[in-house]
Amino acid sequence: MVIFFSLTKELILTKSSNKLINRFKINDEISLIKTIFFRFALYIFSLMENVKCLIIGSGPAGYTAAIYAARADLNPVVYTGMEPGGQLTTTTDVDNFPGYPNGIEGPIMMQELQKQAERFGTDVRIGHVTRVELNSEKGKMHTVTIDENKTLYAKTIIISTGASAKYLGLPSEQRLIGGGVSACAVCDGFFYKDQEVAIVGGGDTAAEEATYLANICSKVTMIIRRNEMRASKAMQHRVNKTNNIEILYESEICEVLGDNVVEAIEVVNNKTEVKTKIPISGLFIAIGHQPNTGIFRGQIEMDDLGYIITKGKSTKTNIPGVFASGDVQDKEYRQAVTAAGTGCMAALDAERYIGTL
Ligand code: NAP
Repeated sequence: MVIFFSLTKELILTKSSNKLINRFKINDEISLIKTIFFRFALYIFSLMENVKCLIIGSGPAGYTAAIYAARADLNPVVYTGMEPGGQLTTTTDVDNFPGYPNGIEGPIMMQELQKQAERFGTDVRIGHVTRVELNSEKGKMHTVTIDENKTLYAKTIIISTGASAKYLGLPSEQRLIGGGVSACAVCDGFFYKDQEVAIVGGGDTAAEEATYLANICSKVTMIIRRNEMRASKAMQHRVNKTNNIEILYESEICEVLGDNVVEAIEVVNNKTEVKTKIPISGLFIAIGHQPNTGIFRGQIEMDDLGYIITKGKSTKTNIPGVFASGDVQDKEYRQAVTAAGTGCMAALDAERYIGTL
């Protein structure tokens, strides 16, 4: 109607039709420029966003933080990262998470945690944080880039990016992950009760896990690439005192054998080059973890191994408004339930921080 009236008015007011055509064209151009400008502004606006609580990572720590943050009206936004659901999505059965008397499959547990977080209004987004600019001034916003193109301003950040287990990198090992190859003895050791297993590595984790497995399994073979262990003396004593642990020094795995499940490993002595086949049903890789903290390097306090340092019994980092939960700040316990516990703590810490602003 508006257009109709304005056109009629033009017809009456303009003396020649040429004049009207010219005027019409100018109006068209102006409205086109306005539309482009408006759409561009909308596009820029959609690429920037302010959030009260940004949670990076979607493992047990991230989703537990989300459940608590959502219930505290922090309107959390979770970015799932490259591996939505975290390390548990590569595990088959989880038997040690309280509340599941019959166990639960890792991927299903993570879907349920996501649903629980969403029930309270968490905004779960598939996306990867590619850059952060943390602000060390209390109360100021932290700037985060998602997938290289979206900018987000966060009042609080909960870092729950986890740690990734290192693997040997053999194709046969990769093929049998979940079929007898595991990077967590505490999670999966029980499935090899009274069976023979092997563990690779000579650090504290391998030593601790070897003694753990020795309580469950009939025999544990430790494969260590040097002629000594890296583990602390106390841990070495524990291993040496355990009857059903056999240590093969200067040895490395060259092949994991088995079609669908692990049946044996081929081990080579790296001095003599003699190869031996050892029948086992479970192979545990304990050669270290890599905390997923690359994007925070140089901006937040970390230890020598790259784990984020938290203050005392809290999840606070040295940056105001930035909290860390789960394996990214824990090289000792590394369990789903401990990660979930620190996720809860991080949300409570974030809520209290916002309350002080
Ligand atoms: P780590 O100390 O880095 O030890 C890794 C082990 O794996 C070393 O024996 C290493 O051999 C071996 N390794 C690495 N890459 C290998 C490969 N490709 N093939 C074969 N072997 C390989 O890792 P961690 O044991 O996980 O410990 C990490 C940190 O957590 C340490 O600071 C540790 O003290 C700490 N931690 C503490 C406790 C505790 O206090 N209760 C428990 C667990 C862990 P090389 O020695 O030849 O490099």
